[in-house]
Amino acid sequence: MKIYKGISGAEGISIGTIYYFSKIKNNEGNLTVGEAIVKAKEKLRKLYTIAKDKLGNDNAKIFEAYDMLLNDQAYISPIIDAEKIGVAPCEAITNQSNKLISLFENHKSEYMRQRSDDIKYVGDLLIDCINGNDDIFDIPENDKIILVAEELTPADTLQMDKTNIVGFATLRGGSTSHTVILAKSLGIPAIVGIKDLNKNLNGKNAIMDAEKGELIINPEEKIINHYKNKLMEEKRKRDIINSFNNTVAKTSDGVRIYVLGNIGNIEDVKNNTLDNIDGVGLFRSEFLFSSTNIKPTIEEQIISYSTVIDVLHPKSVTIRTMDIGGDKKIDYLDMPEEDNPFLGNRGIRMCLLNKEIFKEQLKAIIISASGKSVKILLPMITTVEEIETAKKIIKEVQSELTVPYSKKVPVGMMIETPSSAINISNFVKYCDFFSIGTNDLIQYITASDRGNEFVSNLYSPYNPAVIKVIFNVIKVASENDKEISMCGDLAATTDMTALLLGLGLKKFSVPIPMVNMLKYTISKINLKEAEKMAKKILNTEREKEIKAIIEKFNAELNI
Ligand code: PEP
Ligand code: MG
Repeated sequence: MKIYKGISGAEGISIGTIYYFSKIKNNEGNLTVGEAIVKAKEKLRKLYTIAKDKLGNDNAKIFEAYDMLLNDQAYISPIIDAEKIGVAPCEAITNQSNKLISLFENHKSEYMRQRSDDIKYVGDLLIDCINGNDDIFDIPENDKIILVAEELTPADTLQMDKTNIVGFATLRGGSTSHTVILAKSLGIPAIVGIKDLNKNLNGKNAIMDAEKGELIINPEEKIINHYKNKLMEEKRKRDIINSFNNTVAKTSDGVRIYVLGNIGNIEDVKNNTLDNIDGVGLFRSEFLFSSTNIKPTIEEQIISYSTVIDVLHPKSVTIRTMDIGGDKKIDYLDMPEEDNPFLGNRGIRMCLLNKEIFKEQLKAIIISASGKSVKILLPMITTVEEIETAKKIIKEVQSELTVPYSKKVPVGMMIETPSSAINISNFVKYCDFFSIGTNDLIQYITASDRGNEFVSNLYSPYNPAVIKVIFNVIKVASENDKEISMCGDLAATTDMTALLLGLGLKKFSVPIPMVNMLKYTISKINLKEAEKMAKKILNTEREKEIKAIIEKFNAELNI
C-alpha cells in the first residue's frame, strides 16, 4: 500500500482501477502559426458550444478566455515575429509560453499562478494544431476508472468518454485550475498537484479520498472496507437528502421555512428540476449583459426573462437588475479603470449613470412580468435617494409603454452595504421587500475583499459585528412587516442554518443544488432551541467562541 498526497480539487471518494492517461501524438502536420491560430479558434468554438450545452454558461467561459488569449497581441506578436526571422513555429510558441509562464508561476497570488496553466494549455493547443495532433481518447471500458495523468486540460476533461471515470488525479494543477472547476461541475472527485505520479501505476487498485487529497494505491483490505462503509453512509445520506425533493421546508417543531433558488442564467432553469423550490429569490441578470460583446436588445432580454418566469409560474421570480462593476466588467459600457472597483461604480450606481440601458432592462422585466409573479431587486443601494430615483425611472418606463406590462411590480433592495444594513429603518417605507447579500455585506463590514486570499481569515460570517448587523436587519424588516430573505452564500452554509433561523430568518435563497441539503438541515433544527442559541451568540465577544457554540449545537443534531 502506498499513499500519494496532493491538493483536494473536487470533493468525493471513489474506489477503482488506475488508468494512466497520456495523449497519442503523431506530429505530422506543418502549419504556420497564423494557420494554427485559425484552427485553434475553430476548436475552441466547438468546445465552447459543448461546454455550454452540457455544463452551462459559466463553465463555457473557460474556452472564451482561451480564445481571448489567442487575440492578445502581447502573447501572439512575439511568436509571429520570431517565426518571421526563421524560428520554427513550435519553438517560437514554446519560448513565448515559457517566458509568460515563469512570470505567472512566481506570482504571490495562487489565482495568478494557476493562470500559467492556461498559457501552457493555449501554447500546447497551438502546437497540436501545427503538428496535426487530433484528440484521441482511448479510455478502457473497465468498470470503474481513476484516471491519472501528468496533466489534464479542460478540453481533455470535456471531450473524453466519462461513463466509467470515478476520479481524476493529476501531477500538475492547483485547486482553482480550470480542470478542477470542470471536475466539480461534472461531479467527479479530483486531486491535483500529486508529486511522483507515474505510468507504473497503470492497472493498480486504488482509493481516491479527494477530501483528504489522498490517492491510496493497493489499499489493504481493512482500508477498503472502511471506505466502502463510508461510501454506503454517504449514499444513505444522499438518499435522505434527495427525499426532501417533494417536501416543503419545516423545522423539527413544525415552523414553515421558505427555500428559494438562486439562478445565474437560463441553463440553471433548463438543467434543474425546480419542483423543490418555493420560487427564485435571486436571478443574477448580469450574465445577459456580460455574455456577449454587444448590448442585448430589449427583445432578447424579454426572451430570457420570460423563459425563467414561464418555467417558474405560478411561483415568484425575483430579478435583480444588472449588478455590473466591482469584478464584473462589460466591454461595451464606458467603464473607466478604478483604483478600488468594489468601492466604485457598482450595481445601482452604474445603472443610474447609464440610464438608457437601465431603462431598457426595466422595460424588458416589466413587460415579461405582465400577469405573473415577478419582483425587481436593486443591487448595492446605499442611500434612499438611489431607491427614489430608481422607482421614478420605473414609473417613467411604465408610462412610456404601450404594450401590456406589470403595473404593480414589487420593488425591493439588496442589503449588502453597511449604510443600508445599519440604517434599514430608513429604507422601510421605500421598499416592498429586502434581500440580504452576505457576500458583499461581509466584505464591507469586515473591510476585507471577498476574493483576496490574504484576508480570507477576516472575511468571516462568524464575526460578531456581521451577526449583529444581520440580526438588526431581520428584526427591523420583520417588525415592519416587510419580506426579508437572504440570498448571499451564507444562506447556503448549512453550518450556520441554526443561527440564521435563531436570528429570525424564514426565507433562504440558495444555489439550486443546495436546496434539498438545506431543507434536510432545517428539518433537524428546533426553532425555539435555535433562538436560545442565537441569543447567547449575540452576547458573545469572540469569533472562536461563537464557532464553538454553533459547532456544539450542530454536533448534537448531527448536522
Ligand atoms: C451578495 O453580495 O451576497 C450577492 C448575492 O450578490 P453577488 O454575490 O452577486 O454580489
Ligand atoms: Mg452582492
